[in-house]
Amino acid sequence: MVKEITIEILREVTQRFIEAEPGRLGSEGWWQRPLVVTALIDQRFDQLPDIAYHEHLYPQDLLPTARSVVVFFIPFKKELVKENREGNRPCRNWGLAYVQTNDLIGRLTSALGDLLDEHGFKSGLTPATHNFDEVALMARWSHKHLGYLAGLGRFGVHHMLITPAGCTGRFGSLVTEAQLGNHPLIETEEACLLKAGQECGKCIEACPVQALKEDDFDRRRCWDRLKENRRSLSYFSDLLETTHVCAKCAAIMPCSFKNPVAEL
Ligand code: SF4
Ligand code: SF4
Repeated sequence: MVKEITIEILREVTQRFIEAEPGRLGSEGWWQRPLVVTALIDQRFDQLPDIAYHEHLYPQDLLPTARSVVVFFIPFKKELVKENREGNRPCRNWGLAYVQTNDLIGRLTSALGDLLDEHGFKSGLTPATHNFDEVALMARWSHKHLGYLAGLGRFGVHHMLITPAGCTGRFGSLVTEAQLGNHPLIETEEACLLKAGQECGKCIEACPVQALKEDDFDRRRCWDRLKENRRSLSYFSDLLETTHVCAKCAAIMPCSFKNPVAEL
């Protein structure tokens, strides 16, 4: 008889999958222990077009019979984030980690879908990135907004999601017919110091193109910088055309590896 599928099983399988990746690549890998949350699909998700993008998909658009959302976060190792802190441009390893992590997310999402399928539940999947509107620069399926609604984190002034393991890493998600329950992880209403009324704004200072303000984000300015990095950095020339990275606003910040508001 097939065992019941639970959040604990999904967390264990996700962790094992990530632990196996360095061996598969023949390298040390870039990742720390992942976080996984699930949420039942209810009215919360009706907000997606309002809080994310007006053309954002609903979970049922991926799978009409979907009952739950699964969102995971794969944090990067501190050494990698530290390396990316130097200078105004992303380091080579940051670009490489981005490419390898997107590939990992694609295979991990499929593996979770297969696992759910073995338990008799269909799933709906989307790619890790570049599922967005190139004009509006907004995702039609935002893993971060799914993570926000499912209680994986809170948005910071830098527009990244701050989880209990920080904001430097990558997200993935899927929807499934399985009833997995609500298993959030974030402990506080806000996870950004500035949004919680404390002193900070370090991400605003770190942005090399002044794309961030306390209450505004110049998406175009940020996107142009990401594209310019891919185009102009010779050490990115062998990486995928979609290697659009920077993340200076997330490198060694109070929210890089934890939720700093949880410690107040
Ligand atoms: S660096 Fe500070 S202001 Fe910026 S998102 Fe993190 S906690 Fe918020
Ligand atoms: S990713 Fe880079 S360009 Fe975009 S807001 Fe952050 S620091 Fe600025």
